[in-house]
Formats: sequence, C-alpha cells, structure tokens
Amino acid sequence: MPKSNKAPQVFENYSLKEYNTFGIDARAQYFTIISSLESYVALLKTGLYSHLPHLFLGGGSNILCTKHIDALVVKNEIKGFELIQEDDESVILRSGAGELWDDLVSYAVQHNWSGIENLALIPGTVGAAPMQNIGAYGVEIKDTFDHLEALNLETLAVERFEKSQCQFGYRESYFKHEGKGKYLISTVCFKLNKKPTIQTSYGAIQTVLDSKGITNPTISDISKVVIEIRKSKLPDPKEIGNSGSFFKNPTVPSHVAERILNAYPGIPNYPVTGSSDIKFPAGWFIEQAGWKGFRDGDAGVHVHQALVLVNYGDATGKEILAIAEKIKASVNEKFGISLETEVNIY
Ligand code: FAD
Ligand code: NAP
Repeated sequence: MPKSNKAPQVFENYSLKEYNTFGIDARAQYFTIISSLESYVALLKTGLYSHLPHLFLGGGSNILCTKHIDALVVKNEIKGFELIQEDDESVILRSGAGELWDDLVSYAVQHNWSGIENLALIPGTVGAAPMQNIGAYGVEIKDTFDHLEALNLETLAVERFEKSQCQFGYRESYFKHEGKGKYLISTVCFKLNKKPTIQTSYGAIQTVLDSKGITNPTISDISKVVIEIRKSKLPDPKEIGNSGSFFKNPTVPSHVAERILNAYPGIPNYPVTGSSDIKFPAGWFIEQAGWKGFRDGDAGVHVHQALVLVNYGDATGKEILAIAEKIKASVNEKFGISLETEVNIY
C-alpha cells in the first residue's frame, strides 16, 4: 500500500485509557495516529498544533500520566521491516518505529538472525526501544543497534543518529533527556548476526533449558524460554495495569556497596562491567522496606514483584505517583539509597 502523505485526522479531548498499559484515564487535548512520516510532516506544516508540545506515544508501556495531557499526543504506527544490508556474517534490518518490539524479535528469530532473542516479549514499539536502551536477561539494544532516523521537530529534517550520538546507558539515552520531545524516532536499524552467540547465563534461562533437556539451544529456544519465564513472573498489563519496573536498579560506588553488603550480607548484587560500581536489585530494597503487596484504593505494589507498581482498576496517575514517592522516601531512610524512576512521568 502506498504511504499516505495526507495530514491525519486529529481528535480533541481524547481518552488515553486504552493507550497506556497502566490504564490511566487521562485525556489528551489533541490526539492523532500517524502511519507515515510524510503524513506527520503534512500535519506539522499546517501549523495548527505548533503552539503545543507534541508527546510521542508507542505502546504506552513506559509512561505514567499524572494529569490531563495539554499536548498533541502522536501515536506512532509507522510500520515495515526492510533488509538494508547483508554479508556472510550479519544483516542490517531496518524497522519502522511503530512496529511492535516483540514482532521484530519474532521476525529476527524466524530468520535465525541473532542478537535480540533475549529481549522477547518486552511490550511496546521499536521506536521507543532506544529511548531507554531497553534491556533484559543480560542484553540491551545498544549491543545490536546500528543507527536510527528521527524527525527534528524544529527543522523538519530527518537526522541520522549513530550509536555514539544516542548516549546509551543503563536504561538511558539522549532521547530520554536532551532529545525528549524534540525528535520523533521514525526508523531503527539493527545489526544482527547470522552466527548466533547464545547468552544463557542470566536469571533462570540456563535452569529452564536444563529442565527441558536442551543442551545446544538455538535462538528460537532462547526466545521461547525467555517468554516462558517472563509470563510466569510478570503481571500482564491486559489483566492488571502496570508499566513494568517503576524504578531503575541502583548502581552505587564500591564504598557504598561495602556498607550495604556488611549490613545485609544476603542481598543479591552484581558488578557493573567496566567499573567498580555494584548494582543492587531495587525490588529487594522495596520488599525489605515492607512495600510488596501494599495497596491503597486501586493503586498498589504488585504482590509478587515489588518493583512493579499497579493499577487495580480506577487508580489515578497521581495516586500511583504518591506511592512511588513514599517508596523512594522509605528506601532512602532505611538504606540510604536513592531510587530513580524508570517510567516516563507526564
Ligand atoms: P511508550 O510508553 O509509548 O513511550 C515511552 C517513552 O518513549 C515516552 O517518553 C514517549 O514519548 C517516547 N517515545 C515513544 N515512541 C517514540 C518515538 N517514536 N520517538 C520519540 N520518542 C518516543 N523495559 C525494558 O527495558 N526491559 C524489560 O524487560 C521491560 N519489561 C516490561 C514488562 C512489562 C510488563 C511492561 C508493562 C513494561 C516493560 N518494560 C521493559 C518497559 C517498556 O515496555 C519499554 O520501555 C518499551 O520500550 C516502551 O515502549 P512503548 O512503545 O510502550 O513506549
Ligand atoms: P530477576 O531475574 O529476578 O533479577 C532481579 C534483578 O537482578 C534484575 O532486574 C537484574 O537486573 C538483576 N540481575 C539478575 N541476574 C543478573 C545477572 N546475572 N547479572 C546482572 N544483573 C542481574 O529479574 P526479573 O524481574 O525477573 O526481570 C528479568 C529481566 O527482565 C531483567 O533483566 C529485567 O531488567 C527485565 N525486566 C525489565 C522490566 C522493565 O520494565 N524495565 C520489567 C520486567 C523485566 P537488570 O534489570 O539490570 O537486568
């Protein structure tokens, strides 16, 4: 189908309840869905919404709306996969930013292109993945990221960002900070390997492979195992509103880690590659501070995953944020650790 270059329809005072996995009933002042970059540029050129900020939305699985959104909310549905380079060792696969992340993983696994199979079943879109350098089970997208293209809202030029320009860090990037709201990411390219490097050392992957008698796993085995583990551990947003991990796992300098380890010898801890810092699971602190399973009205902390804040039905974003603030204060008071929010708050 040819790409539409007509400006898309814009709706006023539009409920975002179906468009964020917390299920918060915030309203957008204006809302539109774009299926091509050209149609968004046509809308920008009308100048009708240039007085407002534009908030880009993928799957809404990493946002918390704490108020009505005085902006044009732009839901990205720019689709398409394209092989743009291939040699004996690798391929470069370009994906439209509005593709579902997990569809990209399935597409890569089907073709036996390795590198993102550990990232199976992460909700949301490809375009949002660079925002926080999504990661799971020992893999981050920066490991396979090649480059992306993004529309500069000020100049209306499409700019190419190489890996170094994206400033990827642990759940961080340029687009989560200075670049936020200034660029619409339209395509993302990944360099995937034809000769798989299997990563099984993280979490329960190896244990589950052993229990199935799989000694020589393929990337398809890895993605299936990751999906199985994730389904058994994480609350499904279709059943209970959430945005995954609400806080980042704190990494601290070695002298702070020593204090924590002396006081709590049983705490899980992981050295950060390339530094003397130590990472601790945020969920451990939250659970020890007594928050796991906490509920106030419809807002709460998941009963099995202390890192996941939940909406049992009609919680507001403000109510969820209030619990998050109390958790931060209590973890700081008890352990001297300041938790950082991972979810994007609006
Ligand atoms: P949205 O929530 O729609 O947007 C997130 C941010 O990105 C917003 O600030 C938005 O404005 C911006 N944005 C979105 N699209 C664009 C674009 N095209 N251009 C510019 N800015 C854009 N995350 C992990 O890293 N690892 C996990 O294992 C993981 N597991 C999860 C499990 C569950 C059950 C849930 C609910 C969430 C999980 N997440 C995880 C968080 C989330 O899925 C990811 O951060 C995902 O990349 C968000 O994608 P999205 O399309 O839903 O983004
Ligand atoms: P888990 O396996 O119970 O482990 C708890 C935490 O310890 C993880 O968050 C992980 O940190 C860390 N960890 C475990 N094994 C590690 C190792 N070998 N080396 C370094 N760090 C290790 O975690 P889980 O809650 O079931 O989640 C599994 C994976 O999915 C994790 O990678 C997690 O980040 C990811 N996930 C992310 C979200 C999100 O919204 N961001 C939601 C659900 C799951 P890391 O988080 O740094 O990996």
